[in-house]
Formats: sequence, C-alpha cells, structure tokens
Amino acid sequence: MTSVLIANRGEIALRVLRACKVLGLHTVAVYSKADKDLLHLRLADETICIGSADAQSSYLSIPAIISAAEISGAEFIHPGYGFLSENHSFAKQLEHSGFKLIGPTSEVIKLMGDKIFAKKAMKEAGLPCVPGSKDEILTYAQAKAVIDDIGYPILIKASAGGGGRGMRVVNEESELKTALEEVQKEAGVLFKDKRVFIERYLYKPRHIEFQILADQHGNVVCLGERDCSIQRRHQKIIEEAPAFGISAKQRNHMMQLCIDACKSIHYVGVGTFEFLYDGKEFYFIEMNTRIQVEHPVTEMITGIDLIEQQIKVALGDKLAFKQEDITFNGHAIECRINAENPQTMLPSPGLVTDYHAASGPGIRVDSHLYSGYRVPHQYDSLVAKVIAHGYGRHHTIHRLKNALSEMIIEGVATNTSLHCDILDDPRFQSEDISIHFLQEFVDC
Ligand code: ADP
Repeated sequence: MTSVLIANRGEIALRVLRACKVLGLHTVAVYSKADKDLLHLRLADETICIGSADAQSSYLSIPAIISAAEISGAEFIHPGYGFLSENHSFAKQLEHSGFKLIGPTSEVIKLMGDKIFAKKAMKEAGLPCVPGSKDEILTYAQAKAVIDDIGYPILIKASAGGGGRGMRVVNEESELKTALEEVQKEAGVLFKDKRVFIERYLYKPRHIEFQILADQHGNVVCLGERDCSIQRRHQKIIEEAPAFGISAKQRNHMMQLCIDACKSIHYVGVGTFEFLYDGKEFYFIEMNTRIQVEHPVTEMITGIDLIEQQIKVALGDKLAFKQEDITFNGHAIECRINAENPQTMLPSPGLVTDYHAASGPGIRVDSHLYSGYRVPHQYDSLVAKVIAHGYGRHHTIHRLKNALSEMIIEGVATNTSLHCDILDDPRFQSEDISIHFLQEFVDC
C-alpha cells in the first residue's frame, strides 16, 4: 500500500490525513514532544515522534523527517505549508534518498523561492511584474539609479524573504541609505542571504492570487483567483474567492498567463501566483510552490479537492478534468482564527476548556482543536479556519458571521471578535478594500 508521511502539524496535517484516507493511502504522522496530543495522531495509521518541541529539532529537521520516512517505509512526503514546504535542500535530499515530495522539483522550488530569479523568469514567461530593479541592489548608487526611473515610494525586499518579513518602505531619499543597509543586514540574519531588490511601492493595491494545478503529463489548469488583501503585518487573515470586481475577460486572460508561466518552468503540483492589483492592472510579486492556508475558498467555489488532486498528480495520475470543466459557483470567505489576544495580537497558548465548531449550510471548519487540547506556545497560533460558502458575497458574509457567533473556543483568547468586527464593517461589505484595510481599521 502506498504510504504518505505528513511532515507537518495542526489543521493542515489533519486536512492532508483526511485526503490520504479518501485516496486509500497509508498515513504516517510525525510529531514533536510538544505535540503528542494532536488530533491527527489518533487517526493516522502510524505515528513517530521526531524530536523535541523546538521546531529546529523536529518539523524543521531534515534528518529527523528522512529517518522517520525510512523507519516507516513511507514513499511520499507531504510537507503541508510553512516548515520545510518550500525548502529546496529538503526537496533535493528527498530526491537523492529516493523519497518523493508531494510538490514540485527541488530545482523549481529553488528558482521560485528566490524572488529576484522568480521575477526575472516570470517576466520572461509573460507575467506583468511590479516595476523595479532587474537584479540585486548592492549599493546606494545602484538603488538611486533604479529610483530615478520608478520614483518614490519604494519597497526594499529581501530576495529570500517570506512570511511578510524582510521588507522596508522608503518614502524619500533621506531614508534610503539606512533602510538599504538595514534590510541587507536583516536579510542576512533572517534568511542567511543578504541579497535585496527594489520595487515601486504600490499605493493601496489589493493582493490577488491565482491557483494552479499541474500534472506530470504537461496538463495545467487554473482554478481562478483569491483576494487576500486583509492582512496584518503582510500576513493574510481573511481570504475570499472569487475576487470582486474582476471581469470574466480579465480573469480568463490572467488564468491563461499563469498557465503559460507554469508550463514555461515545467511546474508540477499545486502552486499560487501572487499579484498586486491596482484596480486596473495585475503585477506579479511571487510564486508559492506549495498548498496555501487559504486553499479551501477555492475548493468551495470549484468543488475540487485541491489536496486530493495534489497527491494524485504526485502519484503520477493525469488530471481528470480540463480547464473548460472548471466552473465557479457562488462566493467563499475564510477567516483564520488565531489563538491570540484580539487587541494586542500577541499569542495566547493554553488549555482549550471548551470547543464547539460552527456548522450549517455552506459552513466548513478546518481545525485540529478539541475540548481538552492544549495549544502549545512553540508554533504558529492558527487554530481554526472557518470558511463560508454562499450564493454571493453578501450572503456569504451573513453565513460566516452566523458561524462565528456559534463557535465556542474557551480557555484561550482568539481573534474571533476581530473577524466579526471586520465582517460588520461597511467598508468591508462595500468592497472598499486594499492591503492597508486592517491597519486602517485597527487605527480608527
Ligand atoms: P512574502 O513572501 O513575505 O509573503 P510578498 O512579496 O508575497 O512577501 O509580499 C507580501 C505582502 O507585502 C503583499 O501581499 C503586499 O501586502 C505587500 N507588498 C509586497 N510587495 C509590495 C509592493 N511592491 N507594493 C506594495 N505592497 C507590497
């Protein structure tokens, strides 16, 4: 029986396990010493403790994961998101040791993980990109030359950056020298790669991303887009599909560009092309070579199980549907529920004394919580994703508000009240949204 090792934790490990079960695959769950009570461990065929609570010695330890795969005889590794999911050395070591990553090749992960290379490759493939430097910016003089062309404000970005870190906005020349040195230094410390580049800092854009699925036989489909503009410190907290205000003509055009871009790098698996949208044009910013946290909103409107498909293409299956078979039905919105203080946004780990998930027509909750579960302090604070699917955007907002009001999570603080306030906000409801929405909302 084909066996899949799930190299992750929390809600995504549970979600992957469920997909494996539906496909009739043997499941191996790995966990750290802080995670022995994770829900999916009770449902997996095999479980292996891979190290201590510190992620570096468990979920981020390549030798620990490869040893677990060897011991259990798992052939495939599902990396989920975060942790080793976009680590090209991990992918390479799996390739060398005969294991198969449920994801693209190490070469493609490496290319797309480097924002300078990725932008170059995608520009060549025909994607519109944010104006900025073509190459790494090493000196003040090089930075000034680029800014002479594109003007202020600009954004200095780490080429190896991720998770919203390693970025600095520069509004005028007097800030440039210090900002450049700071981002270079920070990038060296955070990502062990000092290379930075410059982009025009777009005024109040929206973040819109396109979902791709590609098999090993050259077939690529695009499952439409998601609007992920509601962000806190460049980290998404609410996502929706489809993105409002995009015409069918523009959507089809962008979907075709993403399919062509995917083919140009022989991409296999699920992937996301991220863009900023200024109300007229799309500008590519980066590609994620893994499943995204927000994948459920796409699943809700297309009826396609992305993780099942991701696993099937890794097993070598041909896509069973074509682009023209994909239809978009209604609207879906996801709220990321974090165990955190809704005012300070600081993590709030601890014992969940009572838990009741929301339900009802069009409601889906992806969560590993249960009453009596202790949220550990060592990892990301995401504890649940509440997703609503409705006939249109307003109907979906109503379903989601109702679901959030029914949900009970006692013992740890969560950001549920913040989500309710956002969903109630007239600007959110009237589609007056940009990537600065949440900051402006919290400030006023
Ligand atoms: P990361 O890999 O850290 O997620 P991204 O390049 O995907 O970094 O950017 C994350 C977020 O930062 C975007 O969703 C957007 O909110 C903001 N951002 C990135 N580039 C720009 C830009 N050129 N202008 C304005 N905002 C930007």
